[in-house]
Amino acid sequence: MLPRLLLAALPFLGLALAQDGSLSGPTTSADAAGYSCDPSKCKLPSCNCASTDPPGGLSPEDVPQFLVFTADDAIQSYTLDSVNQFLAHRKNPNGCPIKMTYYTSLNFTNYTLVTDWYVAGNEIADHTMTHVGTPSADEVNGNLIALNALAGIPLADIKGFRAPFLNYSVDTLKLLAKSGFTYDSSASASLPVTDSGTDAYWPYTLDNGMANDCLAVPGLCKGEPKLPGFWEVPMYATFDTRGVAGVHLMDPWLDTADSNNAVNDTATLNFLKSTFTAHYSAKRQPFGLYTHPIHLSTTYPGVNAPKSTISMINNFLDWAQNQQNVWIVSTEQLLAWVQNPVPVSQLDQFAPLKCSTPQVDQKICNGMPSNEEGLLDHCAFSDFPFYTCYGCPSVEPSPGNPNPSQSTDNGHQARFRLPSNCSTPFWDPINGKCICTSDTCAFQDDSRPIGPNGANLTGGGTGSDTSAEASQSSNPYVPFNGNGAISMSTAAWPALFFSVMAVLVGAFSVIAHS
Ligand SMILES: [Zn+2]
Repeated sequence: MLPRLLLAALPFLGLALAQDGSLSGPTTSADAAGYSCDPSKCKLPSCNCASTDPPGGLSPEDVPQFLVFTADDAIQSYTLDSVNQFLAHRKNPNGCPIKMTYYTSLNFTNYTLVTDWYVAGNEIADHTMTHVGTPSADEVNGNLIALNALAGIPLADIKGFRAPFLNYSVDTLKLLAKSGFTYDSSASASLPVTDSGTDAYWPYTLDNGMANDCLAVPGLCKGEPKLPGFWEVPMYATFDTRGVAGVHLMDPWLDTADSNNAVNDTATLNFLKSTFTAHYSAKRQPFGLYTHPIHLSTTYPGVNAPKSTISMINNFLDWAQNQQNVWIVSTEQLLAWVQNPVPVSQLDQFAPLKCSTPQVDQKICNGMPSNEEGLLDHCAFSDFPFYTCYGCPSVEPSPGNPNPSQSTDNGHQARFRLPSNCSTPFWDPINGKCICTSDTCAFQDDSRPIGPNGANLTGGGTGSDTSAEASQSSNPYVPFNGNGAISMSTAAWPALFFSVMAVLVGAFSVIAHS
């Protein structure tokens, strides 16, 4: 029999299966959009017109093909296992481990794994506290507060939002801008890039309103809502042989394709490849894999993800990564490049794509599993128990009370929450101390050159056991640093790499110089 926790989660999963992220046709048109934007007035980095052309006037051959990988909903060991089976063994052309974005909702989330995932360099974004569409301010902001208090995610690093069920309104966008979010990623690009009226725009700011979802969300478009400097990162749909009528958005491997009446991995692989190629061979708008990793879990009771589907997705990623200039990224990495686009030949100097390891060997509770062993607090709430470095709350966090007072039952000493002037891997929440007090304890840069004269910019072979196609590629990955092939280990926690994000470096220099 399933434990109570899992039983409680199942109805929620059913809902997500039925409603979270399906599309049935175009969600905009040129008429409905009524969009106009003057690129001579709207300029990067703070303004960008909705356009199918790459930002910064770059020509497509100088533009990386970004593949955005996202996951939604609760973070639990089985969802991270699921993501890891696709990403843990891969690297980008600069030798850095792949980072992705997790749109996190907090019911059933194990907070300590959020910390770990963030400290490993991934982006944590907001998906409401209790997974509701057209959310209230408490649902959106409570999520920020709880992630900061109980997972130690710096508020400045929670930049993005995705609406549960992709169900948002004009007011949702206004709320996000007002709350200081950098971007929303709930809108759909619902027409193929090969259609003349495609809505597959590069990420853009809402200085001149929205140009996506005009037929789907009341009050959107024709210049509304005007939210200067606030970004929309559209979710790019994929299309099977039926073209616009065969549209797929989230978890495309759960859909039937073409005119099949059952799910067919071969058909899915074909339309992922053909859509990717359409992007790659024209204007290189980003390509997205938007997942609910629970559906691909091999460790969650009651979910039996077919091994063939998992292999198919790895085959697709192998195939994509063996092409030149393909980078698998988080949404924040994509957006950092759009705001400051540099040609592919300069990507090895582009900080948001680099990787580095925080140099911490003290045994503190800091989101590095090897350090924090034995130091986690177990918060034994009956419906969703979780672990945290930051002290158990006396009651479960909720939208009305996202940061309850700490429980000090049985003489348990309260823990110190992350202050704004220390970064997560250097914060000791038990002693309330930032251990980074000199510039020698910062980060070790682990990026490698992306190749002589910008050549050979592939992420390379990846070791999935069914990647016959990839291993026959005429353009295999050749390492520059003398290291051998990367071997796959689905159980391996990805190496702990930490992104060189301006805000963290900024936070660090405050400490280093004070
Ligand atoms: Zn969701």
